[in-house]
Amino acid sequence: MMTVQVSRGMTAADGISLDAPIFDPTAFRLSDEQAAIIATARELGQAVFAGRAADYDREAKFPTENYKDLHRAGLLGIAIPKRHGGLGAGYQTYALAAAEIGRYCGATALTWNMHVCSTLWSGPLADDLDMDAGTRAEHERRRAMHYRRIVDDGAVYSQPFSEGGAAAAGGAAFGTEARPVEGGWLVNGKKIFASLSGHADYYGVLCTEIAEGEKASRRNTLYLALPAKAEGVSVVGDWDPLGMRGTVSRTLLFKDVFVPEDAALMPRGVYFQAAMRWPHMFLTLSPTYVGLAQAAYDFTVRYLRGEMPGTPPVKRRMYPTKQIAVAQMQIKLEQIKAIWFQAVTEAHSNPAKEQVLRAYAAQYSVMEGANEIATLAIRTCGGQAMLKSLALERIYRDSRCGSLMLPWTAELCLDRIGREALYENGESDD
Ligand SMILES: Cc1cc2nc3c(=O)[nH]c(=O)nc-3n(C[C@H](O)[C@H](O)[C@H](O)COP(=O)(O)OP(=O)(O)OC[C@H]3O[C@@H](n4cnc5c(N)ncnc54)[C@H](O)[C@@H]3O)c2cc1C
Repeated sequence: MMTVQVSRGMTAADGISLDAPIFDPTAFRLSDEQAAIIATARELGQAVFAGRAADYDREAKFPTENYKDLHRAGLLGIAIPKRHGGLGAGYQTYALAAAEIGRYCGATALTWNMHVCSTLWSGPLADDLDMDAGTRAEHERRRAMHYRRIVDDGAVYSQPFSEGGAAAAGGAAFGTEARPVEGGWLVNGKKIFASLSGHADYYGVLCTEIAEGEKASRRNTLYLALPAKAEGVSVVGDWDPLGMRGTVSRTLLFKDVFVPEDAALMPRGVYFQAAMRWPHMFLTLSPTYVGLAQAAYDFTVRYLRGEMPGTPPVKRRMYPTKQIAVAQMQIKLEQIKAIWFQAVTEAHSNPAKEQVLRAYAAQYSVMEGANEIATLAIRTCGGQAMLKSLALERIYRDSRCGSLMLPWTAELCLDRIGREALYENGESDD
């Protein structure tokens, strides 16, 4: 059994008993290199981030200190190719590492995802897409500049995507516009729920390139890194949400922001190609919530065993109703882990229809399942366990946010699975 792990830990150099990995490297056939990267994330998460998480949550404050640690550990460059100074991790390794961070601080894992995507999409994912030789060489030159900023200077990138209309769900062109001008673009628009607002060094903005008098098209989506300090960039609105409070996802406004051509994180047309041919690019919000599901389960086992630090050593494990609830949680967790591991392992360009449906199903299972496990955890552990002095209450609130994340909200996953299972491409009933 892979999930009974909270009481069996290794001993870290500083003497704390470390949790076992969510995905045991031998059982899940990970390489030593993968296991080492994932272990770094887990150890940092448990030894350092877990202790800071309550404060970020209470104050709705960005986890700046965690980002300094992520930089020191090389994890800001996890998906940056080794020849550019990064750790060279692929999609699966990143996803497994992010789940370990999410286990200890949801807001750090979710915002780290926005940052890592700027390197994952421009890195391994772009390498798996079509470009002519000239475009690829130009992309290589540009991304080297972005990667240097991250690896050398600890620059943090975010990924404002959502606008409040149909664009983030993939139904329309982004309303944020990039007008070509001499040497670059002038960007105008608005992004809502922009995690890392006021804290990222660069906002990786999805926008539509559009010349005077042209019609907006999704094919002309650009992915541009706007310096946070550029003239015309502002952060507005407050941030006081139910969960994921440390993400600081406020509103960004862009008013005639000039960016040079080197700001492009992907060449023209490549984001659209990725959205069509690499659908797993939208599954990267899920690792955080796999971690939260594990965290709710770990909490429950510890609590019922009377081993939760900061609480009296009262055992509650002898009641059959508690044992059944834990069994239900363990079964749900293993189901989530199994489908999700398969989906993140088979992520590549041009997946088969079955693999795309599985990716939607994995996203749905994780995002809804994490909250179901957290709900059961609260009911099972009881009133004293949901006090704000313990992590479960935060895990419960954070886990509620997963199924709201566009473009693959739980509703949209159901919508797509149903439609795509019943209709082949181009089929209709007319
Ligand atoms: C903690 C947190 C952090 C976030 N961070 C970021 C970030 O860094 N960057 C970013 O870009 N966004 C981010 N988001 C935004 C997120 O992805 C959504 O865009 C946001 O929650 C707004 O969604 P909405 O429910 O208002 O969307 P609406 O568009 O109002 O949609 C409401 C619901 O309707 C359904 N729906 C939408 N379109 C369709 C359709 N075409 N067909 C059928 N149903 C549909 C969906 O299920 C959706 O949940 C974040 C959100 C949260 C909660």
